[in-house]
This record gives sequence, structure tokens and C-alpha cells, in this order.
Amino acid sequence: MSVEKHNFEAETGKVLNIVINSLYSNKDIFLRELISNSSDACDKRRYKSLTDKSFASTIDLNININVDPKAKTLKISDNGIGMSKDELISSLGTIAKSGTKAFLEGITKQKNKDDNLSLIGQFGVGFYSAFMVADKVEVISKGIGTKKSHHWTSDGQSSFTISESDKDVDGTEITLHIKKDEKDYLDTFRIENIVKKYSDHIPYPVKLIEDGKENEVKSLNSASALWMRNKKDIKSEQYEEFYNHLGGIGKPWKTIHNTTEGIVSFTNLLFIPEMKPFDLFNPDRKTSVKLYTNRVFITDECEDLLPSYLRFIKGVVDSEDIDLNVSREMMQSNAALNKISKALVNKILSELKKDFEKNRDDYEKFFNEFGAAFKEGIYEDFERKKSLIDISLFKSSNGEQLTSLNEYISRMKKDQNEIFYISGENIEQILTSPQIEGFKSRGLEVIYMTDPIDEFWLPSMNEYEGKPFKSITKGAIDLSKFDIQKDKDSKSKKPATKKDIDKLISEMKTHLGDKVKDIKSSQMLTDSPVCLTADEAAMDIHLEKLMRQHKRLDKESTKILEINPSHDLIKSLGKIVQNSKDKSVVSDVSHLLLDQARIVEGEMPLDTKGFTEKLSSIITKSLSG
Ligand code: ADP
Repeated sequence: MSVEKHNFEAETGKVLNIVINSLYSNKDIFLRELISNSSDACDKRRYKSLTDKSFASTIDLNININVDPKAKTLKISDNGIGMSKDELISSLGTIAKSGTKAFLEGITKQKNKDDNLSLIGQFGVGFYSAFMVADKVEVISKGIGTKKSHHWTSDGQSSFTISESDKDVDGTEITLHIKKDEKDYLDTFRIENIVKKYSDHIPYPVKLIEDGKENEVKSLNSASALWMRNKKDIKSEQYEEFYNHLGGIGKPWKTIHNTTEGIVSFTNLLFIPEMKPFDLFNPDRKTSVKLYTNRVFITDECEDLLPSYLRFIKGVVDSEDIDLNVSREMMQSNAALNKISKALVNKILSELKKDFEKNRDDYEKFFNEFGAAFKEGIYEDFERKKSLIDISLFKSSNGEQLTSLNEYISRMKKDQNEIFYISGENIEQILTSPQIEGFKSRGLEVIYMTDPIDEFWLPSMNEYEGKPFKSITKGAIDLSKFDIQKDKDSKSKKPATKKDIDKLISEMKTHLGDKVKDIKSSQMLTDSPVCLTADEAAMDIHLEKLMRQHKRLDKESTKILEINPSHDLIKSLGKIVQNSKDKSVVSDVSHLLLDQARIVEGEMPLDTKGFTEKLSSIITKSLSG
């Protein structure tokens, strides 16, 4: 019989290494992972047998665990959907999850070991966890509808083999050859405890059979769907186990378990995780809530159950009003499903609102993890835009604590009618933005928009509670009606006269020409000599940069250069212009100032060579003068 040898894909090999050497301090979870897979396989078979006549069957689906201390093996078998030869190769030879590569790169870049662990902790590796306790794993499986069973085997190093199996199975049988120093896993008592602890909620009987004691089969779990049990009878540990079974890590941040009776009736058991998964921003933005009807699993790929912006939610929805045969194509137009989805989203949002109002610290933790995904809804969910933004939180110049827009409005100054914001790649970059200076010195609060999605929903909102949004890097903002808070920074100096500034501006314009859209005396600057702003009608500076980065825009627009009339540098330059001394200095400094403003925005100088030459020349002059 031919035996094929395959190497694991490079990424899989790396993951294996991480798993075996450092992943879980708690090795017991390998059994949870394998039983979870068996349970999923039984779900799929049950669905198939109920929806496809050629697979109709009345067999009882179950999961068996055999312990053989003599042979030093632990066997987990199920009569679920099974795997064909190709499926064995693709499912157990590669890690299909997209984003794995980026994730692994993230891990290798992290220097701190604890960070590594918290990163790895987010990454469920399922089947591979078997290699934590076994030095060899054999899988015999037969895909439903195929004729032959196949035998997959690997020592978890770099390769696996596959061949036709002598033994025929109905489903999948996984044999772990337990490592010498993990003999505890050959103790039935130990296994029984682990299954009870982690897999009690599995809806199929999990039975334990010890070698030589085949008559003493023991059922280890309650084998009923957890979500259908009465809330009062469920302990928090049981919710936690179920959450882990769904691929959640650690404890859920929030559990939402309800039964809704009405035109359509359904039960939902949903979890919001504590930490964002590494693939939250994968382009596919897939949701993963599982859809059941009368406890029969239909799909975990129902895109119409929850909108993408709630894709971090894990869980189960079970409704007797959904037809088992609902096809994926039909789902979109399925009236019952639409009603369920609507009710579900409203339920989730009202739960979040409660936390926003009553559990603020905890809610901030949630928002720090998932806010960037959540805010996609402001852009995408037209109907709920307002309720989403009501409970969205932002960083602002007010301090460390996050703020809602309503809270911002309550702190607005007497004559302030607009919500001031600045967007940027991150807080560090925003904090160095010169445009903020004039707002801070006047005690005007500015909201920091640091998530890329902010650039998308902001233009679609225009205003909130009657207050227009106003980017402080765009258009003229009249700050003259707000007094500068003198005591804060006694640095506020006497500005140059209007006449002097006008003269300087007109001189600078002759040197900078069409490299700038305009040059203006700024009200926004206190400490910096210059900054760039965009025209009122133009795109926000950060949005434009983002569009260029994503190749949606190829040309950079020319900006307005604002100069600070109170800054010594500007005043001195004004004097040089007045005395009509060295014109070339004015030209060099004008160019340097423009480039300085660009650098602060994270842009390159317009002409790098010219920039360094001018800079050297000015430094030389000042050192020798
Ligand atoms: P995950 O369960 O997160 O997809 P795993 O590594 O645990 O990742 O499993 C990979 C795939 O192998 C599963 O998605 C499934 O298709 C297949 N698989 C694993 N165990 C079984 C089983 N007992 N029966 C059928 N298919 C299985």
C-alpha cells in the first residue's frame, strides 16, 4: 500500500513548534479541543442526514474515549462527518485561518515573553494541541459519502504521512501515543475529570471506555444543549466552558443569554470576548455566530445573522422558525432570519448601552478592544447610526478618560458651536500636531480620531445633536472669540504687527509660489512657528494621506501654510524682510519652514536634497555668525 509523505506548510510547522513548546501552561485543554472538533463533526453529519436524503440515517451520534494504559494510547473517536483523504491533508496539514502569517510575524517581533504568551493565548490551535501530550498522533477517518478510510500520522515535527487505512471507520478516530512524562493522561479518573470540567455542555454523549473493561461504559457529560437550559441552572463556569468550546479564550467579557417569544421565537447565547482576536481586521470581516434550529446545527457562516461590525461576538442562535433546509443563498431574503437579526442587534446594543451607563470602567475596556470595529456600524448601519454613536467613546484633549460625544458637548465653551476634532494615525502623532496648540491654550477640547474608520463615518455624519463636526486641520476656524488662558502658559508673546506679517507673507509667497495654496497668519499656533491646513472645501489632511497610502489617490494636494505671528522665528524673519537684507535667507527659511510643517505631518520634505542643503547653509551661518 502506498504511503505518501507530506511536509507541513511552513507556517503550520512554526505554529506546531510554538504550541508544543510554549502555548498552554494547562495541557488538559488538548482534550477539550479534540472533543470540540468531534462535536462539530457530529453537528455537520446530523445536518447532512436531515437535509440530504442520500445521507439520511438514524444512527446515534456520539463521541468515545478509549484509554489503553498498556499500549499507552488515548483514543478519541466520533461518528461525525469524517474527512476524505484530501480533507485530511488540507485540514490537518495547513492552518487555514487567514491572517496566521501576520500573526506569527507579530509573535516573532515581540521581544517580551509575556506579550508573546498573551498573543498566543488568542490563537486557538485546536487539533495541534494534541502534540503537547503525544509524541505521535494517528488519525483514521472516512469522509461521509466516500468509500475508503485513510490513515494520517505524524510526530508533530515537520511532516505527516497519509495512506489508505486497513481499518474502516465511520467518522474519525484519533489515537494519541502519550509521551512518557505525560502518563497521567492514561488515567481514566483524570480523563473523566477533564471531560467533566471542560466538555460537559457537548450536546452528544461523551463516553469513556477503559481497555479490558468494555462493559463499563461511562457517560461523562450531560449531553444537552446548554443554550436551551434554564439560565438559573447554569453556572458561570459552564458558560465559560461553552465559550471556550466556541473558540473563545479565557472568560467572556459579557454573556447574553435570552429566549425571545413572538412572531419569530429564538434563543440566543452570545458572548463578547475580553480581548480582540488577532484577525479582527481581516478583510473578510466574517461573523461566526452559529445558527441552529431545534438544536440542529445549520451553519456557522450565516452572514445575515449579525452585521460585520459585531463580528467579535461568539455564540449560538437557535430558532424553531428557521427551516432546516434554508440554503445559504436564500438566507438573505429569509424573513424570519431578518427578524431575528434585527432583534438580536437591538438586544446587543441595549445591553451595551446599559454597561455604557452603569458600568463605565468596564465598558471602556470593551471599547478599547472593539471600538474600532464597532464604529464601522456608524458608517454601515444607517438605521442605528445614532444609537451606535451615542455609546461610542473617544480620546480627547480633556485627559486620559475616554469621552462620549454627549459628554464632550456638555463641556463645550459658551460660544462654541462645533465639535472640534483632529484625526491622525495614532495618539503620539496627534499630540505633536501643531494645529492643536491654539485650542489647548484656549481650553477648547479637541477629540482625537485615531481609527481609520473614523475618516469614513465622519463625512457621513456631518453633525451630532445639531453640532457640526469640524476638523481642526481643515478650513479657517475663528478662534478670536475664545480667550487664551494666560496663566496656563505665560509664554504668550506679543505678535508681530499685521502690517509686518502681511509683508512677510507676500514675500514668502514669491519664494514658495505654487508649492503652497496660500499662506496665512495663524490663530492656531502657540509654540510652533508653522503648520499646514487644508482648504475648507478640500479633503481632511489625514484622510488624504490615508487615501494615498491605499492608492486611492495618487496626487498630493497643495496645502495652506499657516505661520505663527507670535513666534520669534517668524518675527525675526519679518524683520529681515523689513530691512530688505538677504533675500536668499528668506527664501531658504521659507522653504525650510514649509518642509518642517510637512515633516510634522509625517510627510517627506518636497525636495530632500534642497532641504538638507538649505539646513546646512543656515546652520553654518548661525554657527559662524
Ligand atoms: P478548527 O477546529 O479551529 O477549524 P482544528 O485544527 O482543530 O481547527 O481542525 C482543523 C479542521 O480539521 C477542522 O476545521 C475540521 O474541518 C477538521 N477536523 C478536525 N477534527 C475533526 C473530526 N473529528 N472530524 C471531522 N473533521 C475534523
